[in-house]
Amino acid sequence: MLDNLTKRFSKIFKDIRGQSKLTEDNIKEALREVRLALLEADVALPIVKDFVNSVKERALGHEIADNLTPDQAFFGIVNQALIDLMGKENTSLNLSTTPPATILMAGLQGAGKTTTVGKLAKLIKDQDKKKKILVVSADVYRPAAIEQLKLLAEQVGVDFFPSNTTQQPVQIVRDAQNYAKKHFYDVLMVDTAGRLAIDIEMMIEIRAIHSAINPIETLFVIDAMLGQDAVNTAQAFNETLPLTGVVLTKMDGDARGGAALSVRQITGKPIKFIGVGEKINGLEPFYPDRIASRILGMGDVMTLLEDVQKGIDEDIAKEMAQKLHRGKGFDLNDFKAQIQQMRNMGGFENLLSKMPGELGEISKKIPEGTAEKAMRHVEAIINSMTPKERANPALLKASRKRRIAAGAGVTIQDVNKMLKQFEQSQQMMKMFSGKNMAKLMRMAKG
Ligand code: GDP
Ligand code: MG
Repeated sequence: MLDNLTKRFSKIFKDIRGQSKLTEDNIKEALREVRLALLEADVALPIVKDFVNSVKERALGHEIADNLTPDQAFFGIVNQALIDLMGKENTSLNLSTTPPATILMAGLQGAGKTTTVGKLAKLIKDQDKKKKILVVSADVYRPAAIEQLKLLAEQVGVDFFPSNTTQQPVQIVRDAQNYAKKHFYDVLMVDTAGRLAIDIEMMIEIRAIHSAINPIETLFVIDAMLGQDAVNTAQAFNETLPLTGVVLTKMDGDARGGAALSVRQITGKPIKFIGVGEKINGLEPFYPDRIASRILGMGDVMTLLEDVQKGIDEDIAKEMAQKLHRGKGFDLNDFKAQIQQMRNMGGFENLLSKMPGELGEISKKIPEGTAEKAMRHVEAIINSMTPKERANPALLKASRKRRIAAGAGVTIQDVNKMLKQFEQSQQMMKMFSGKNMAKLMRMAKG
């Protein structure tokens, strides 16, 4: 995700690293790079201009704190400007109204509306099992679309209000809302038809649907891969409907990132969720600071920590933290436990892809499955060690390595490679240890 921006920015900061001051000159060059990066990422031109200007203003008037280098300071400015552009904080769904809280989905065909209805229904249910949710499709142009929603509803375990291609969309949603009222549903989710491109008929229809049901949330669903077209599409929907939020889908793909920046700016509405996969759990809250960090090549550390929290067995985490705290250090037993935990967190590749900088870059170059295979190697090697060796890797001299390699059915180079990985992991654990860990966990919890 957001590859090009990440690469561009890390290059920019490499270029101005080592200089003692932010000058007009090096800002100018860095700004030009920022501008190019944003344009290449398909951010709309006026938005790029505004952004670059705001960075420039902030940078020139800015006094660099003693403990920062100029490139760190500049980095901070760009980061903050990005966060500001994308909205300062995550805004969640607003369902506080007389039930049923009605959610209307709008967007082009293929944007991910139907899928998102399913995902969102699941999110709402996960938060509160007691919520009674009804879904309905007003997509009368494609019978498969109604069936698709029906299947999703079954999968998530919410109720489906039937509709068919002979009915009028406005009538369908009215009936659904009356039914929802009568049967005390908390939430009604309304899926609509899209077109392949902006189309006046579609706009008239979605407007009629909107006035018929007066939804509390009108979510504009847009494909993050749309690029420059995202701007026109967002503009058209924003002018047609009083949008309350945006869902940016397919952020798991090769989206160039421009959409995240410009849709927010064009609509002025918060991006509430991002779609990160085809599966029913592939929807996450949108955190501007996280995406900004990711754009700037710092990795999505907060999302990573959430995964860690979800996956890690609390006891093991606590034990590890205590061990580190006592200064006993992180040994190969811990490393092995860590690998097992990684499996529970959706695998090594998923985790690696969220790591900052080079680690994250590396993950994109590894063919799928390679990392898992490597991890199995690592486990085999550790299994061939004596408990003493695991607790004290410094013991591992040539003869011991030979024995271990033979035992694990790998080469000595593999053993060395594994020990190197272990050292890196040790470093990482230091970063996540004791106070740092507690602090990061608190931040991840929000
Ligand atoms: P609609 O026409 O707006 O209702 O779009 P659909 O919900 O039918 O989605 C169109 C296609 O995009 C389907 O194949 C979905 O599985 C896929 N899709 C939707 N959201 C995401 C996402 O966040 N990531 C990925 N990879 N695919 C998605
Ligand atoms: Mg659909």
